[in-house]
Parts: sequence; structure tokens; C-alpha cells
Amino acid sequence: MCTCIDLSLSQQPLNKMKKAELVFIPPPVPGHLVPLIEFAKGLFDRNDHFSVTVLLIQFPTITSLVAEYTKSFAESNVPIRLINLPPPVHFCPSQEPYKSIEKFVTELVDYHKACIKEAIVKHVVSNENSAQLAGLVVDIFSTSMIDVANELGVPSYLFFTSCAAFLGLLMFLPTRHAEIGREFEEFDGEAVIPCYVNPVPSSGMPEVLLSKYGGYTTFLNHGRRVKETGGIIVNTFEELESHAVKCLMNDFDNVPPVYTVGPLIDLKDESNKLDSDVIMKWLDDQPDSSVVFLCFGSMGSFGKDQAKEIAFGLEQSGVRFLWSFRKSPRKDKLEAPSDYNSDVLQEILPNGFLERTKKIGLVCGWAPQKAVLAHKSVGAFVSHCGWNSILESLWFGVPIVTWPLYAEQQLNALQLVKDLGLAVELRLDYKISKGELVNADEIERAIKCAMDGKNDVRKRFKEKSEMSRLAVMEGGSSYAAFGGLIENIARNKAMKEE
Ligand code: UDP
Repeated sequence: MCTCIDLSLSQQPLNKMKKAELVFIPPPVPGHLVPLIEFAKGLFDRNDHFSVTVLLIQFPTITSLVAEYTKSFAESNVPIRLINLPPPVHFCPSQEPYKSIEKFVTELVDYHKACIKEAIVKHVVSNENSAQLAGLVVDIFSTSMIDVANELGVPSYLFFTSCAAFLGLLMFLPTRHAEIGREFEEFDGEAVIPCYVNPVPSSGMPEVLLSKYGGYTTFLNHGRRVKETGGIIVNTFEELESHAVKCLMNDFDNVPPVYTVGPLIDLKDESNKLDSDVIMKWLDDQPDSSVVFLCFGSMGSFGKDQAKEIAFGLEQSGVRFLWSFRKSPRKDKLEAPSDYNSDVLQEILPNGFLERTKKIGLVCGWAPQKAVLAHKSVGAFVSHCGWNSILESLWFGVPIVTWPLYAEQQLNALQLVKDLGLAVELRLDYKISKGELVNADEIERAIKCAMDGKNDVRKRFKEKSEMSRLAVMEGGSSYAAFGGLIENIARNKAMKEE
């Protein structure tokens, strides 16, 4: 039995033509769900012939953030039907999730194949109140749902939540694998990867592509399947990744149409965290562009030793700071980091640090990142280089200092620094799992460099920031791509009706 929150049907304008229903199948990962929902909102803004159903896979340990987001979202008036799939009681992953989270999430999604088909048949295909099924929108972790689309006789579209360059790498994997027949290895040296301007050092390859635990094979399979879709939608904009986008469109055989529709950012973030008011009030009291903001995504956290180096680096730099510092979960638990209480913080940070820096700094837990980046007092952003964070910092024009931690973030950092000249390098190939220390002097240097008003990176960043806003406005590249995508869906639907 599926639980169903129907927010859609009664509120939508009636059209003469029967509406087109798109079913979205995200993995239960917040960084993937939020931009997908923004994409749905973009569809509604552009065309009221669409309705959207999102099938939500339940998985308690990794879905607490998802649950929080969907709750706030369900309370808003966005006309999207959210359907919670039944909890996966008989799901047995083939190995411990921490060995390869990518493999685990893929297996979790695959487990739901039959249930997803059943839900689509029940809620859309055989539901006379529902619009006509026009396609499935799948994520890179849910490429197996291309089979479900085929069985139902509708096209599938890939919605890719990271950048065009990384998608290019995934699509290149089958070609590389045919030649080399194995995953990347730490000491391979540099590799020429089509969508990246500069060669990619193996030390900067994401862990998943070096993985002996099935992560590589998982992504190889996803990379293979991308071409089977009817269209590829990427949360990026042409002016940011012109090389990668051209390469995606021209350097692969039989590639479906590519639509760069970003940046898609949830600007009306409804999630309300306890500390938000304190943080925003503190920022109000700081001079313009004087604060460096440190924040490391939904899964970023550091141990005691690294925290001490960050604290010393901040203190040495003398720059005002807002530092989102969170507690690591146990390695074998699939949990997000949590916030520290103030007594524990005192213990972990260097002796007297909080006292000495109380006039110039604030250490917090989860931060309202978009509101912080939008605040005029914030001048630079030390980031883990998650793709959503990059798009957000571009949108608000706050230059980045790169400190990648996990997933594809090393490649994002590399692209920003080397290919695009859009960030200050702190680290490009840092990996949280290796436990290596970034020392206080390096941190101090990078922060001072990013805050320097004469730095060319800041100038270039501001220019791209303006382009990001123009891209989604009428006449912009992403606006046009959205139009092309809508035509594609309408064309496919019309062909099916003939
Ligand atoms: N985020 C936030 N506060 C935090 C940490 C993260 O609001 O303290 C938000 C951030 O604004 C972004 C998302 O969480 O929208 C993180 O997505 P990203 O792709 O950057 O990284 P991920 O969490 O997927 O690694």
C-alpha cells in the first residue's frame, strides 16, 4: 500500500488538452531530490499542461533530511503529488553500505522496480483522474527505471543533478572500459577525459571510480544506460560549462538531446533550523563582504585534529568567519552528521578559541546556506564543492575556496580551479576518508587570497554569477533549453497518441 499526499489535481488550471503526467523517480538523497523538485516547478512555470508525480523511496537512516524537506514542501502549495513507496522490509544489500554508498543506493532503487511499476499503473495509468503518462524522469542512480518506462511504452528522461563534465566522464566510462577493462587506480597518472579541458590526475578521481567494492561497476552501468533515454537534462548552464556541454552534445555517438536548464535552486528554502535566526542576526552586525563562510554540505564533518587546524587557520587569518562545524557519524552508520552542543565544542576546539574569536566569529551547526550566501556581509565561501553549493555560490556571487571531501567533489574543484579559473585552490584531491590533515597555514593563505578584493578569481566569479541569473530569464540559454525539452516531451507524447 502506498501512502499518497495529493497536492495537485484540484489546484491545477483546466486545459482543453489532456495533461501530460511525468513521474519522477529520485533516489532518497536530498542533494538529488531538491533540484528535481525545482525542475518540476520550472516545468509548471513554463507550461500548465504538465502534472508531476514523485515516487519517494523510503529508507529511514538516509532519509531523515529527505523527510524534513518533503514535510516543508508538502506544507507549501506546490502542485506535485508525492507518493511514499512502502518501506523496503526485505531489502538486503549485497555488502555493507559504507563500502560503496553508490552501489548501495543503486541496489536500493533497483529493489523497488516492481513496486514502482505497480505504483505508476495504479496512480497514473489506470487512474481516470490522472493525466496521461508522458514519461519517467530518472536520476543517475535510477537508470534501471528506464526498463520500467520501456515496459510502459513511454520515454524516459535523465535528470542529472551534478555538472555536465561529470556526466561526460560517466558516459565516457564504457569507451574507456572497452580499452582498459578496469577501474581507475590511484597511481594511473593523468587521464584525458573528453568533457574536462585539462587532464584529470588519478588522485583527483572520485573514490567511486577507484572502488574495488562495486562502485565503479555501478557507475559504468549507469554511464552505459544514459544513451537509452529520450533526453538528458542537466542542472547547469551553458555559459558556465561551455566546453563540457559542447562535448556532451558532439563527442558521443547516438547521444539523446541535452538540455542545460540550470541553475535550479530552491530559493524559497522553507526548512527552519533552530540556529538560523542567531546566525542571520550575527551576519547583520558584520561589515559588507567581511565574512568567510565555511560549510561542507549535508554529509561533511571533520574530526578533532582537523577542526583544530581550521580554528588556528581562521584565527591566523584575522578574517571574520561563520563556520558550520558538525559531528561525524559512525563510519558504519548511514547517517548525516549532527550538530555539537556548546560544551562539546569548547572541548574540541583549541583552548580559548571561542572566547578569543567571539567578536569576529561564529561556530554553528547546520547553516541556512542560501540565506547566508545571499547576505551582504559574506565575502568568500570555503566549500566542499558539492554541485548544489557551487550553483548557489554562483547565484549569490560569493567566490569559492575549494575543499572537496567526498563523491565527485574533487572533480568539481578541479574543473572550477583549472578549467574555469573560478575558485581559489585550497585542495583539489582531498578525500575525507583518507584522514589527511589540511594545516592551518594553508587554510589561512587560501582564505586571505579569496578575500583579497583585487583577486581576478573574484572578478570572473562575479561575471559568471550575472550569467547564471541571465541564463534562466526569458531569452537566456537555460530558458531556451527548457523550451526545447518541453517540445521534446510534447512531440513524444503526440507520437504515442497517433
Ligand atoms: N546545506 C545547507 N546547510 C548546511 C549544509 C548544506 O543549507 O549546513 C544545503 C546547501 O545549501 C545545498 C545542500 O545542502 O543546497 C548541499 O548540496 P550539495 O550538492 O552542495 O552537497 P551534498 O550535501 O549533496 O554533498
